[in-house]
Amino acid sequence: MNDFDEELDRRLDAIRQQGLYRELRRVDTPQSPRVEIRGKEFLNFSSNDYLGLANHPALIEAALRAVERFGAGAGASRLICGSLAPHHDLEEALAAFKGSEAALTFATGYGAAIGTIPALVGKADIVILDKLVHASLVDAARLSGAKLRVFAHNDLNDLEAILRWADQRGANAPAGRRPRTLIVTETVFSMDGDFAPLPEFVQLKEKFGAWLMVDEAHATGIFGARGRGLVEHRGLAGRVEIQMGTLGKAVGAAGGYICGTRALINYLVNRARSFIFSTAPVPAGVAAAKAGIGLIQSEEGAARRYQLWARVEQFKSGLASDGSLLPAAASAIIPLIIGDEIAALKLAAALSEQYLYVPAIRYPPVARGQARLRVTMTAAHAADEVARLLAAWPQIKSQL
Ligand SMILES: *Cc1c(COP(=O)(O)O)cnc(C)c1O
Repeated sequence: MNDFDEELDRRLDAIRQQGLYRELRRVDTPQSPRVEIRGKEFLNFSSNDYLGLANHPALIEAALRAVERFGAGAGASRLICGSLAPHHDLEEALAAFKGSEAALTFATGYGAAIGTIPALVGKADIVILDKLVHASLVDAARLSGAKLRVFAHNDLNDLEAILRWADQRGANAPAGRRPRTLIVTETVFSMDGDFAPLPEFVQLKEKFGAWLMVDEAHATGIFGARGRGLVEHRGLAGRVEIQMGTLGKAVGAAGGYICGTRALINYLVNRARSFIFSTAPVPAGVAAAKAGIGLIQSEEGAARRYQLWARVEQFKSGLASDGSLLPAAASAIIPLIIGDEIAALKLAAALSEQYLYVPAIRYPPVARGQARLRVTMTAAHAADEVARLLAAWPQIKSQL
């Protein structure tokens, strides 16, 4: 073996020793509550497909029709070879859904973050992040070159103190372009499932003339009237500069989006590098996402949300004797906080032996010593499937 592989093997050993090693598990069926892994059927409690749309006939049908009409590939980036109709249809649907003037889609939510933040702010500016925001937002903020500040999770006093500092700094800035401050948060947090105090954030950012970007990755489709997310639900769509999200979770397809004013979208088309220098998403995925957005707003979407909350309630009340592990907030993400990485891995392995697929989430998505089993419910789960997870839990936990 050459020196390169030896070096990498040493690094992998170090990762293993910390209980942080990961490997891919091949699944031979579509994403749904039951998946086949190595010829065995597992109950799947790991997916962000909250409404069970990833394998829904309406999305499959939309994808097939798009392939027939527009082909398999997208050809190039949308600025180079022309921007296919399905992308425009999706963006119009998204803007209407989110109550914004316009929308722009990216290949992934990660790409939306990485393209947008560095387009908007640079060296002279400040980005203020909630301590628990997703890696895509952290990476994007770092890439922008702006000065970074982190406030304690959902802590308005901490945020205000940083805004005051930024304001002071702006007042002392040399003449030229006014330094900008961008606040970045999620509405529903991805690993804890709790909510940001959005109206208070909006008040604060207005008081200090800062900009606000919110990531609704885990809210779109499941919270707010007709699943429009928390920004729209709170009537704040016109007061949040940048609404971001993914089309890969409740929407059931793949891709990322930014919603905002026409000026924001025109600007991103000119300046967001992950949009400009990347091949457009394929027609099938885009058409599936548009079908997902439509379904979310329909009666069936409402019924699926009802079903989702019924399963969440079933699981949480079934675990009530283990209340210490449960978060206070209600979302489709139910983290059971274990702490130690190796212990979390052992629990996940024990569940796996009973054909229950629940991932052990470990650093870096969460802090070291904050490892957890992250149970996600979907509208597609049946009551007896949730009951199977509940039945296995006491015995598994006794192995702790
Ligand atoms: C999943 C996720 C993203 C990334 O979206 P993808 O479409 O999966 O790239 C961004 N932000 C948050 C909070 C997420 O949970």
